[in-house]
Amino acid sequence: MKLRKVTAASAAALVLALTATACGSDDKDSSGSGSGDSKSITVGIKFDQPGIGQKTPQGYSGFDVDVAKYIAKELGYSEDQIEWKESKSADRETMLQRGDVEFIAASYSINDERQKKVDFAGPYLLAHQDVLIRSDDDSIKSPADLNSKKLCSVTGSTSAQNVKEKLAPKAQLQEYPTYSACLTGLQNKAIDALTTDDSILAGYASQDAFKGKFKLGGFKMTNENYGIGVKKGSDLKAKINTALEKMVSDGSWQKAVDANFGPAGYKNEPAPKIGNIVS
Ligand code: GLU
Repeated sequence: MKLRKVTAASAAALVLALTATACGSDDKDSSGSGSGDSKSITVGIKFDQPGIGQKTPQGYSGFDVDVAKYIAKELGYSEDQIEWKESKSADRETMLQRGDVEFIAASYSINDERQKKVDFAGPYLLAHQDVLIRSDDDSIKSPADLNSKKLCSVTGSTSAQNVKEKLAPKAQLQEYPTYSACLTGLQNKAIDALTTDDSILAGYASQDAFKGKFKLGGFKMTNENYGIGVKKGSDLKAKINTALEKMVSDGSWQKAVDANFGPAGYKNEPAPKIGNIVS
């Protein structure tokens, strides 16, 4: 056999090719149609929202993670057959359209605009948009007070959109890629308030690192009906709705609520009825 001299450039090209191949085969495995040990399902979650979806050195945790695990089990996948992927707010529709993930459980509100691009199972949780402010700040007593403030939210979220369209159109809105990025700004006073769902903000406020530093406004500015995002036309929607109904009726939904929202003291709404979107 003739050995070919491997130059640095060709070695680099080889590495790139191998990486590309690895990604490609990965995608195939995540189609959900595999069988035996190679079977896996790829699920999109948030990585930086304690109590909802969080990646830690110990693994993945949060209400959305528990909902996703339950759905995966009902679809025939064990926990170790789940491949978790981060779905940032602005990336969710594209990830579903491209087939990067089978479904998304990531504080993902159902709305008309998104429903043009993807389908939703659920809803499985009703949250409300609120603000997180520094504990010693008494200047934000109502949503209208936000109009003179530096507000942070996330690109591609309903939270940012609501601020611009109706909640506080005159606020100086800064859009970051993630809510955790806003937190740093809130701490060092680069921003005055962080706005998104109360379910997410409660998780941040209860973190050891921030204990006592932040408080929620308690404004309940919108209704955020969390759905499970799937590719448009996917038959997964009906299967996931069946799984969500079972999760509520067998008590697993309440268990997940207690385990994940209990530590933050978040007072959630009762389990929504499937298909019942609160406007
Ligand atoms: N639930 C809202 C949304 O889907 C805000 C939370 C988020 O960005 O994930 O946009």
